[in-house]
Amino acid sequence: MWTDTRPAAELPKLFERGGDVISLSGGLPDLDVLPLDAISTQLSRLVRLGGKLALQYTTPHVAKALVPAVADLMAREDGHADGDNLIPTSGSQMGLTAVALALGAPGETILVQTPAYPGATAAFRTAGLELHGAAEDENGLDPEQLRTTVRELRSAGATVRMLYVNPTFQNPTGATLSVPRRAEILTACRELDLLLIEDNPYGLLGFDGATTTLFQALDPQQVVYLGTFSKIFAPGLRSGWIAAPQHLRHDLARVAEIISLSPSALAQGALAAFYSRSGWTDLIDRYRDSYRERCTLMADALDAELGADTPWTWQRPDGGFYLWLRHRDRADAGRYAQAAAAHGVSVVPGGHFSVAGEHADGLRLCFSNVPRKKIAEGIGRLAAALTEPAPQERELTAVAG
Ligand code: PMP
Repeated sequence: MWTDTRPAAELPKLFERGGDVISLSGGLPDLDVLPLDAISTQLSRLVRLGGKLALQYTTPHVAKALVPAVADLMAREDGHADGDNLIPTSGSQMGLTAVALALGAPGETILVQTPAYPGATAAFRTAGLELHGAAEDENGLDPEQLRTTVRELRSAGATVRMLYVNPTFQNPTGATLSVPRRAEILTACRELDLLLIEDNPYGLLGFDGATTTLFQALDPQQVVYLGTFSKIFAPGLRSGWIAAPQHLRHDLARVAEIISLSPSALAQGALAAFYSRSGWTDLIDRYRDSYRERCTLMADALDAELGADTPWTWQRPDGGFYLWLRHRDRADAGRYAQAAAAHGVSVVPGGHFSVAGEHADGLRLCFSNVPRKKIAEGIGRLAAALTEPAPQERELTAVAG
């Protein structure tokens, strides 16, 4: 294979479960909150009354009945969706691939907010794009440095047309870009003729219900928005959407059709049926409650286990799935992840989220799917690994002692 799928190929090992291992690695939603009986009734009704349509190929559109459900979700973050700007996907992973194939060309450079979701970097590499990390300051992605970077890359002969961002409760840091910063980034994008790719699976999962205005809301013509039902409903339906500027809609729709031929009418029907009966608010509130509780348990356990005198720093997130630990002295966290595995807990080392070897001092902890009663034990095991002396220090201690 000529393309580079390195990060995606390595990730499954980290998601392996089994034995006594407590997994803090996989970014899985907590499906305990799903009303399975209601969904089962709706699915069975859908198949019984409309099975020959729901199980048939369908046209490459977001189904009419589902458009209000998507519009409702996007409006919660001031975004806009209607029948004209939507393209169906099998989730944002497909959205990322479609964007890279439709709007980029092999050899072109895409700027990436880092640390970055490895599925995004793998999708871009697989489409033949070169990746370049976008610089940050203390408020996140830095528009001034963006200008400098793009000018430098272009004067060195690179074609740079896109900037990828996961702006709210970012995977893996949990960080959110402020609205004023978003506006500044968009101003830079317009000046530089850069299309902004906004990947937003977690935006409605703020623990206190607060939302942040989408890039797409601030400038719909400069932004390709990737939405998904994976984190506010369930990933198993493999359903999402792209909200695209008018002039890109056709190219994106064509590539989406090439990738999947047709969206799943069954999945779209199930989502539309759920929305028309229950709306989103109740389910999203239940997800938020679950993640707020789990995040608090995990952050409290980290405080208690690591104490104040620790080289590991982190911030309590306000939403999403993840806690991001960094080593103050920039130590390579990979060996701590291995030590953690030996102690029976899995976490993802920061190098997986890098574009060019950066972030090796990070560890991603996912709280969204850990059973509540296992969180303290998992963090206890992790703390034992994080406070273990480095191998060479262990040898010195052994010689000295
Ligand atoms: N983008 C980000 C930032 C993600 O974290 C994920 C899933 N973990 C995806 C995209 C892909 O999600 P899906 O294909 O299920 O919509």
